[in-house]
Amino acid sequence: MKPRVEAQREVLASVAPLRSERVRLGDALGRVLAEPVVAPHDVPPFANSAMDGFAVRAADLTAVPVDLEVVEDVPAGSVPTREVMPGTAVRIMTGAPMPAGADTVVEVEVTSTSDGTVTINSARPPGMHVRPVGGDVPMGAQVFSPGVRLNAAMLGVLASLGVVDPMVGRRPVVAIISTGDELLPPDAPVPPKGKIRDSNTTTLHAVLSGLAEEIIDFGIIGDRADPLRSAFREAADRADMVITTGGVSMGEYDLVKAVLNELGGVSFWKVAQQPGKPFAFGQIAGTPLFGLPGNPVSVMVSFEQFVRPSLLHMAGATALFRSQVHGRLVQAVSTNPEKDVFLRVRVDEDEGGLRATLSGGQSSNVLSAMASADGFALIPVGVGDLDAGDAVLLEMFSWPETRPREVIDV
Ligand code: AMP
Ligand code: MG
Repeated sequence: MKPRVEAQREVLASVAPLRSERVRLGDALGRVLAEPVVAPHDVPPFANSAMDGFAVRAADLTAVPVDLEVVEDVPAGSVPTREVMPGTAVRIMTGAPMPAGADTVVEVEVTSTSDGTVTINSARPPGMHVRPVGGDVPMGAQVFSPGVRLNAAMLGVLASLGVVDPMVGRRPVVAIISTGDELLPPDAPVPPKGKIRDSNTTTLHAVLSGLAEEIIDFGIIGDRADPLRSAFREAADRADMVITTGGVSMGEYDLVKAVLNELGGVSFWKVAQQPGKPFAFGQIAGTPLFGLPGNPVSVMVSFEQFVRPSLLHMAGATALFRSQVHGRLVQAVSTNPEKDVFLRVRVDEDEGGLRATLSGGQSSNVLSAMASADGFALIPVGVGDLDAGDAVLLEMFSWPETRPREVIDV
C-alpha cells in the first residue's frame, strides 16, 4: 500500500497550474489571485472622521465645557473650505475629510449646539475618531500575495483600490464519468433489483462547484469496453482533468481498469487510507485522470484527499488542504491500524473544546452518515484503537450552523 501523503505528493507533482486570466471583480469570489496586488493609493485616501460630530483642535479642550464657534458643515462627500482656527469647530459627518487645523473629532453625543455655537462637554485627545490617511492600506503596500483565494472582504478591498479585473488562475475544465452497469439516473423510477441510482455524478457536481471552470458530464457509462474507451478519450481531449468513479478495484467485470490499461499512462494504486483505498491516477493524452472508487463515501474521501487539492493547485492556490483542528472522541473507536482512517463525525463543542461523535455507519457505501457529518476524524496509520476522550485530529468541511451559546429563535 502507498502511504496517503506520498500518494498526495505524487499526484500534486504531476498536475501543473494552468495559465491565468483576468476576470471581472464580481466574478472573482473563490478565484485564486495570480499576481500580487499593490495598493496604487492610500486607503483611506484622505484623513476623515470616524464619527458624526465636531472637528476641533484638541488644545481648545483643556477646560470643558467649552464653547466653540461652528464655522462650517462638512457632510460625507464634500470638502472642507475653512481651516479650524483656535476657538472654532467644523460640524463633520462620518467619512468626511478632516479640515485643516483640526486634529480631533468630538462625537455629537457629548456636545450641544445653539446659534452657531457648539458646547463641548468632554475633552478628547488628539487623533480621536480620526481615520488617518492610509490607515487601512498604505499606498505601495502589497495587499495580497499570489496564490490566495479571494473571499468577500478581499473583493471589497480590491474594489476600494479600483482593481476591477484581478488576474486569477484559470480553473480546470473537468470531465466526469460514472461507470457501472448497475447505475440508473437519479430520475429513474424505483430501480429494479440489481440496479441503483447513480449518486456520484450529483455529488461530484456539487463538490466541484466553484473549483471547476466547467463540468463536462459524460453521465453513466456501462461496463463495456467500447463506450468506456471512447468516453475516456473524448473526456481527455476536451477537459483539463478527468474524474471517473467505479471500476478501479479488484472486480472481474471492472472493464474500466482494462480500458485504462490499454490507453496507457494510468497506474492503479492501493492507498493506505479508508475509505478510498483503490485509486487510479495518471494521464491520458497529457490530461490528468483520477479514477475514484465507486462507493459514494470513498468518492468523497478520495475527492477531498486528491482531487480538491489538485484542482486548487491547478488554479494556482498555495493552500491546498483543509485545516485540521484538535478535538476529542466521544466514543471509543477501533480502526484498521494499517491505514489512515477517515471517520465521518459530527462535531460540537463543550468546555473541553471540540468533540467528535460518529455520524452513523462507517461503511464506504453509507452516504447518509457522510451527509450528516461536519468533518472527518483522522485516525492515522499505526493508531487503530482509541478510547472515548482521546485526542483526535478533525478535518472540517463544514461547521454546524446552530450556535448553542447564542441562539436566536425565529
Ligand atoms: P465499483 O468500484 O465499481 O466496484 O463499485 C463499488 C460500489 O459502489 C458498488 O456497490 C457500486 O454499485 C457502487 N457505485 C458505483 N458507482 C456508483 C454511483 N455512481 N453511484 C452510487 N453507487 C455507485
Ligand atoms: Mg463498478
